[in-house]
Amino acid sequence: MRILISADMEGATGVTWPADVTPGTEQWQRCRAMFTSDVNAAVSGFFAGGATEVLVNEAHATMRNLLLERLDERAAMITGRHKDLSMVEGLQRGDVDGVAFLGYHSGAGAEGVLAHTYLPNSVTGVWLEGEPADEGRLNSYVAAEYGAPVLLVTGDDRACIDAAAYAPDAHTVAVKQYVSRYAALCRPPGATAADISEAAEAAAAEAGRIEPEHRGPLTVEVEVDAAHLAGAAALVPGVEAVGPRRVRYTSPTAFEMIRCFKAVTTLIGNAVEADYG
Ligand SMILES: [Zn+2]
Repeated sequence: MRILISADMEGATGVTWPADVTPGTEQWQRCRAMFTSDVNAAVSGFFAGGATEVLVNEAHATMRNLLLERLDERAAMITGRHKDLSMVEGLQRGDVDGVAFLGYHSGAGAEGVLAHTYLPNSVTGVWLEGEPADEGRLNSYVAAEYGAPVLLVTGDDRACIDAAAYAPDAHTVAVKQYVSRYAALCRPPGATAADISEAAEAAAAEAGRIEPEHRGPLTVEVEVDAAHLAGAAALVPGVEAVGPRRVRYTSPTAFEMIRCFKAVTTLIGNAVEADYG
């Protein structure tokens, strides 16, 4: 049984503040240990449930946050960024029997701790096939296309509510309760690790290849907070402005959908200017 863990940081235990997830800060150094603890808890739960291989793919910012030296020695990890499938790199590296979204969070414009979609700000909403789409929903389409079910989602309670909509069969663990975008009611890593391990072990029982789902064509809309950012996004061939701050594109596959999304957000991020955005 081969499991892929896509590990994002905003939804990790104890994380509530921009500096907590900003590489180089003192707070980030501290939070890396709690993030690694969440991942190790999932790794041990999956192995207890029968996994034979667990691959961890770093999915936050520069994708160099987890402490390899503290990673469960049975797991392997893809660290660093610039990868074909970004947050869900690894799906294409052999058949995966199940995916876990660890440390996930609500999407741009929604209520949730450190809510955002790819970019920390500037994007104010994303819709996939007309449904509000957080990163979990976008990545779940890619996983389905590669024949891998989403088995486990962890994050704040809002991320778990989102998961219930896009992956109703997945187990969820709320490691913190939303108070505001920058505050949460938190539990210590020892307590959340026990819950994550238990959920991962139970989720492993549902692992197994599914028939690859080809749900395309897939239409995505992205709303931004300034008109010039929509203009930047529309530089991508096939992406059209449908309003002063909104663009739309349609992709034949989830693979192309997520890659176009990456291109769009990269160009938007590149067009953000200091102070005025
Ligand atoms: Zn994220």
